[in-house]
Amino acid sequence: MKTIGLLGGMSWESTLGYYQLINEGIKEKLGGLHSAQIALYSVDFDPIEKLQHAGKWDETAGILSAAAKNIEAGGADFLLICTNTMHKVAPEIEAEISIPLLHIADATAEVLLQDGIRTVGLLGTGFTMEQDFYKGRLKDKYGLDVLVPAKQDREIVHQVIYQELCLGRALPESKAAYLRIIEALAEQGAEAVILGCTEIGMLVSQADTKTRLLDTTRIHARKAVEFAVQ
Ligand code: GLU
Repeated sequence: MKTIGLLGGMSWESTLGYYQLINEGIKEKLGGLHSAQIALYSVDFDPIEKLQHAGKWDETAGILSAAAKNIEAGGADFLLICTNTMHKVAPEIEAEISIPLLHIADATAEVLLQDGIRTVGLLGTGFTMEQDFYKGRLKDKYGLDVLVPAKQDREIVHQVIYQELCLGRALPESKAAYLRIIEALAEQGAEAVILGCTEIGMLVSQADTKTRLLDTTRIHARKAVEFAVQ
């Protein structure tokens, strides 16, 4: 079994989910007392979040690259960055390590293509919904059509992530807002909606809606389990 490198803490609320899902996945695959071999480096999210909102992505890349090198030195055979947003600096991180990176958008796109989905809605931070590092990858590399919510709704989705979910709060009014926004994307033609932020699964799940949801935390964790036991 390979050792799974996790670059976590963004937020730690969602890293908990990764840890649990990966261990459950290994137990399911290997049985008995098997559990995942994990090298986890969990960063302090507060300075990262401030740098993101100040547009200082180079500095975030420096912090995360240093953490990734520690993960590699700690024996990881491959790396997961446990956040969609920070894949903005995935190329800079990748350049500093010699182990492979399992990109969260690639893992998600593979599921979409397997299921024959071509038009997909995307929820995530404003950075993920508006910038090209994520949407562009889904379009250019996989030929997917990506729909995002209207500006006002993007702001709601973004605020709920940073002011509630990353602090461990899942509020019923925010859940209702997210479900309304998901239905609006489905009405515009989205065949499924990507929960493109690793905390959104704390708020909404497939049981809440008929619209197909793709939870990137679950997809990414499953991919890690498959890769680890390959
Ligand atoms: N975990 C989130 C994501 O998947 C947001 C926190 C962050 O900015 O990294 O995008």
